[in-house]
Amino acid sequence: MRVTTVGVVGAGAMGSGIAALAASAGCRVVLLDIPGDADPKSANRSAPAKNGLLKASKSKPASFMEAAAVARVRTGNTEDHLQWLADCDWICEAIIEQPGPKQELFARIEALMKPTAIISSNTSGIPMAVLLEGRGEKFRRRFLGTHFFNPPRYMHLLEVIPTPETDHAVIGAMRGFAERTLGKGIVIAKDVPGFIANRLGVYGMVATMRRMQQHGISIDEVDGLTGSLIGRARTATFRTGDLSGLDVLAHVTKGIGAATGEDFALPTWVHEELVAKGRLGDKTGGGFYQKSKQGTLTFDWQTKTYVPQQRLEGGDIGAAIRLPVPQRLPAIKSIPGAQGQFVRDHVVDAAHYTLSLASELAHDIVAIDRAMEWGYGWEAGPFQVMDALGLDWLKQEFKAEGLGIPPLLELAQGSFYKNGEYLTFEGTYEPVPGIPGRLSLAGYAQSGRVLEDNGLSRLIDLGDGVACFEFRSKMNSLGAGVLEGLEKSLRKVEKLGFNGMVIGNEDPRAFSVGADLSLVSFAVAAGAWDDIESSIRTFQNATMSIRRAPFPVVVAPAGMTLGGGAEFTLHGDAVQAHAETYMGLVEVGVGLLPGGGGTKELLMRFTRELLQYEELDLFAAVKRAFKLIAFATTSTSAFEARAYGFLGARDRISMNRDQQIADAKQRVLDLAPGYLPPLEQSVRALGREGIGNLEYALWAAKEAGQASAHDVRVGRAVAYVLCGGDGAPRDVTEQDLLDLEREQFLSLLGTKETQERIAYTLKTGKPLRN
Ligand code: NAD
Repeated sequence: MRVTTVGVVGAGAMGSGIAALAASAGCRVVLLDIPGDADPKSANRSAPAKNGLLKASKSKPASFMEAAAVARVRTGNTEDHLQWLADCDWICEAIIEQPGPKQELFARIEALMKPTAIISSNTSGIPMAVLLEGRGEKFRRRFLGTHFFNPPRYMHLLEVIPTPETDHAVIGAMRGFAERTLGKGIVIAKDVPGFIANRLGVYGMVATMRRMQQHGISIDEVDGLTGSLIGRARTATFRTGDLSGLDVLAHVTKGIGAATGEDFALPTWVHEELVAKGRLGDKTGGGFYQKSKQGTLTFDWQTKTYVPQQRLEGGDIGAAIRLPVPQRLPAIKSIPGAQGQFVRDHVVDAAHYTLSLASELAHDIVAIDRAMEWGYGWEAGPFQVMDALGLDWLKQEFKAEGLGIPPLLELAQGSFYKNGEYLTFEGTYEPVPGIPGRLSLAGYAQSGRVLEDNGLSRLIDLGDGVACFEFRSKMNSLGAGVLEGLEKSLRKVEKLGFNGMVIGNEDPRAFSVGADLSLVSFAVAAGAWDDIESSIRTFQNATMSIRRAPFPVVVAPAGMTLGGGAEFTLHGDAVQAHAETYMGLVEVGVGLLPGGGGTKELLMRFTRELLQYEELDLFAAVKRAFKLIAFATTSTSAFEARAYGFLGARDRISMNRDQQIADAKQRVLDLAPGYLPPLEQSVRALGREGIGNLEYALWAAKEAGQASAHDVRVGRAVAYVLCGGDGAPRDVTEQDLLDLEREQFLSLLGTKETQERIAYTLKTGKPLRN
């Protein structure tokens, strides 16, 4: 049961987002919506689906991973084109949240879908049993719920809701496709209102607002107390509300309240002062928070006005946030005053609700923890939080609050998780189910498979003769410690006779933000130019030793892959990138050029690509590399990185971050038999004439006010390297180009403007235009 063709009905926020994700993953997609005009001959018949697609293709953040994927989506309407669904392997319904239209649509789809197709609904709350009314047995066997989170590309969670009649093979096929091809984290949920994540997440939001009023504290205080401090997302309660939209929150609370009979009502001021006045959060420019010239303002629910934001940072709370979750949570027990009382009441209340409902929502507590981590961005799921708080403390608090002790808590022997096992609803402890296809570096490290470790980097044995070199510095920046670690690890892998090495990590944000600028700045201030020269040489040696290693090295970037991080990636024998890879040679932002082989590497690979054509225009390769470097072009996905030429024909993309390290390991094993390292290469450099052409472009940019004098200076240095210096045309080796990179890097670093750029970026995290 392979899914290659996908049909999505409903081209609204969710449907077009799901279509964009499937198309980005490489599927052919049919996207249908209602007809835009009753007249069958009207040119607007398919306008609703076309508009949905257009919106998705322009959305920010982008729904599509590359512009080319838009062409994989065919738009139509449900009157004229429903038959197109007959070819689809998976049909996903994402239309208006009303049982009638959904049932009617399913009846029509039942008549035409192929017997092997999977059919699903993206409903947020209509029971599957209601959606299935009137459907035959064959349809029922192939039907399940697939609850995506908005926006589908970026939210990792997909709740899959089988019914008692769904075929096991259908569940397995949907799960495999969604995990492998769409890259989602799958949680099997039960068919109850709100499923797992929204039921607990939305309950938490409503309960938080009530407690806030009860304790008389502010929105700023609540967000300071209900984010990282208690293992939740940094956007805490109200920032999360603004991000997802207050209209969505109002809609979902109403729906879950009606379906459960529980009190999910939001405070009246949310409806009257915010929703009714169109203050719906980020999409309308303000909600609980609002941006102003003076900075961020926060809604004061007591005076119903916006007041300057007062962040709850520093002090005990700030210190606690830096601790790992198991040590962090206990800190809330000693926070004084109303804030302390509020946060304790809040976690106790949330824990009680979760414990009471757990077996109704899910088949195990692991699913609940994962749903909250993947769907709401929590650092630790509710059961991990309870373990960190201590179950005895919780019992004591429940008693003090007059709450009963939920039976699940009685079953736990000390903690919900212990030694890699979790507490089942029957009271036994079972091994925590692995995430399919995942190799956990943290898990391997814990089980004693560390081969090298210098605090800033480590080498982990992945088995089968493959090791993984992992950066461990702040934001994985690259300094002397990491580079030493790499050299040592390469030697170790060779000595052990391994098949090869992966360079990758599990950092949620950055593969690497590049060279450690603070060290550069420090050395410049000390006038230690010889040291700087030798550091650049060390960096170049490091990237070249990846290239020259006698075994394959596969680099696995994900998230920010900038500057030196991109240079490391460019020097792998192959790249196994996560789909969300934001890669760029961004050195010009700080007045430098890629000096670790990045400039050389782009020139070499773009020239090589041209060699296959008879009429070779070498300047085309120079220009292409120049543009990427001089504009600090950064990809917004791995697919875009491929379109720019940062990734090449041998490089692959993993849609699922959890599977990336395993994919990279497999790639090493594929490349290992008979592996020989690439030989030194040379290209024809254009010299003076090439530089002249690029200088002209730089001059034009300056005249148009798009570039400063220093931008031109930096651009000229890039041109100088890419053209092999300003002499006559000549053949240059990789080493020649590396020497030029180093020379130009040092000369730029000697300028006042570059030093100012570095200082400014270190201070503010932003680039300086000077
Ligand atoms: P939306 O209003 O943005 O889009 C719904 C689309 O369906 C519209 O384009 C509409 O024209 C179309 N439509 C309505 N009736 C139709 C019919 N009979 N046939 C074909 N098309 C029809 O809604 P949305 O936010 O995309 O939600 C769609 C579904 O996904 C709902 O069931 C919703 O509960 C669920 N959902 C929404 C979110 C969310 O955050 N928005 C999250 C998860 C699930």
